[in-house]
Amino acid sequence: MSDHHQSPAWSKTVRTIRPRLEAQRRAGSLVCIDCHKPIQPGENFSVGHKVSAAQAKRMGWTEAQINAPSNLGGTHSFRGGKGAGTRRCNEKGGGQIGASLRIKKASAAKRRPEWSQW
Ligand SMILES: [Zn+2]
Repeated sequence: MSDHHQSPAWSKTVRTIRPRLEAQRRAGSLVCIDCHKPIQPGENFSVGHKVSAAQAKRMGWTEAQINAPSNLGGTHSFRGGKGAGTRRCNEKGGGQIGASLRIKKASAAKRRPEWSQW
């Protein structure tokens, strides 16, 4: 798992940002950062990075920049079957990108998965 997404700072960020996104969802104005379609009031979403933590790190962003509200948004999340937990919108594409990044960075840096589940 990711130390980034398990860090107290990230938890605090989520606690801060999620209510704002929920308010947007209720208002019908929340747009998924992955598929760019509206997240309907009845749909689940998770907080995700617009620029992934891994990508942002490569660009030299600080943790504060990575977790800035301007880099965060809602992404559709789906309940997986058989205890799979939740998965993010377009997880397939993002997961592949994340996997390749993790392979490249595995020996040089801490692992930074694209997003966190909770
Ligand atoms: Zn989506």
